[in-house]
Amino acid sequence: MSTEEMVADAYKYAKTAQENWAAFTAQQRSEVLRKASDILEEHLETATRQLTADMGKAIRDARGEVLRSIAILRYYSGDALQPSGDVYPSADNSTFLLTVEEPLGVICAITPWNFPFAIPTWKIAPALVYGNSVVWKPAEAASGSAVLLAEVFEAAGLPSGVLNLITGSGSRLSKALTGNEALAAITFTGSGGVGNRIRQSVADRNIKIQLELGGKNPAIVLADADLEDASLQVLRGAMYSTGQRCTATSRVYVERAVSEEFTKKITDKVNALIVGDPLIETTEVGPLGSPEQLKSVNQFLALAKSEGATILTNSSAPDSDCFFPPMVITDVSTGSRLVTEEIFGPILVLQVVENFQEAVTNANNTEFGLSSSLFTRDLTTAMKFIKLTQSGVVHVNRETAGVEPHVPFGGLKGSSSLNREQGTAAREFFTTTKTVYIRST
Ligand code: NAP
Ligand code: MG
Repeated sequence: MSTEEMVADAYKYAKTAQENWAAFTAQQRSEVLRKASDILEEHLETATRQLTADMGKAIRDARGEVLRSIAILRYYSGDALQPSGDVYPSADNSTFLLTVEEPLGVICAITPWNFPFAIPTWKIAPALVYGNSVVWKPAEAASGSAVLLAEVFEAAGLPSGVLNLITGSGSRLSKALTGNEALAAITFTGSGGVGNRIRQSVADRNIKIQLELGGKNPAIVLADADLEDASLQVLRGAMYSTGQRCTATSRVYVERAVSEEFTKKITDKVNALIVGDPLIETTEVGPLGSPEQLKSVNQFLALAKSEGATILTNSSAPDSDCFFPPMVITDVSTGSRLVTEEIFGPILVLQVVENFQEAVTNANNTEFGLSSSLFTRDLTTAMKFIKLTQSGVVHVNRETAGVEPHVPFGGLKGSSSLNREQGTAAREFFTTTKTVYIRST
């Protein structure tokens, strides 16, 4: 339960430590990240169990997430030694014209509970490796994972003050986190409401800001798709991690010619999911993240019932204050909040459409634009979809969720501030450019 004074101290330490850290060589910073990746690998099982204990992710998915953190640390350890800056021809032959990249200074990272390891790592690792220091506020519900990850950096030899962990409620510490004068940039992942509040709180200051927000991700299944494969991909996208992924599949639009066959396949698969104790290896779907999360998902279920929606599945879940049975619903009207708002739970809305065009129009009819999928065997339609779909991540014959660490990631429309994360985009965000003219006399 950090206090506002602790946040102020963290910024003070971060500011002093950053100058020293930026004077390290890129090789030295790369080495700290490499060591961190090795230490996290040694503690893979402890970290995995901590992650599941924090927010209930099925243990095999939790392990996959920690492995992803290790891969991210290794990627940025390597990226530290990649070319930095550019050389340009000058209009003056005696001038050498180039750009150099420099760190921004002190970065504030604010992260959600649904990916307690991967999201913090893909913010902190690039921030550090390009010479910045960090004040990090993880979700209160993921504090255990955060402490473990901070300890990994410490054990890897990160100098004191370069990474500062602040735990406790985000709303309580908001002013202290976003109002400090040492702050150079904010990288935030979480809900749209909080993201927009943060954007407004720094609007009159010259601060670089990156927001990754919610999603309402559609999948489109056309008549020529491999239906067995498509139903498996949609199942994974919608139900794994208990639907609590920003890139989760929340809506599926199915062409009428195959709607019966696809509906049978997806409902059979949902009914067969193993829902239960997330610490058991065979569990496919664990609980929701918290009782509040269950309350919120139950409100969407009540809305579905009141609007006369049909529940197509009959799966069950343990009777406790966090479990919710994975569900496919249909007969939902186009304007319903069930097809416009993020549910963040294992509810998939299925709608039958006449053709590709109707599917795309419906898919785009939302304020969000994070990820989308198309299932087809037709290359021409797939190429059209890539142009027409309004999302920052586009999948063809793949689930909407799942991102690789070495490529840019982020959304369009209300899903993002449009500054991408990861891959080369991370270097762009966490550094600034000086343009240098050197003339020899
Ligand atoms: P959230 O409620 O917005 O919280 C995110 C972070 O912000 C937490 O650390 C939270 O702290 C903190 N926070 C809350 N109020 C704040 C304030 N007024 N000022 C500063 N910080 C504040 O989101 P969540 O419930 O943790 O995560 C779920 C959401 O994240 C979903 O909408 C999901 O789609 C989105 N998400 C997006 C992506 C993406 O890449 N686009 C990835 C994953 C998740 P507390 O824990 O104390 O509330
Ligand atoms: Mg919250």
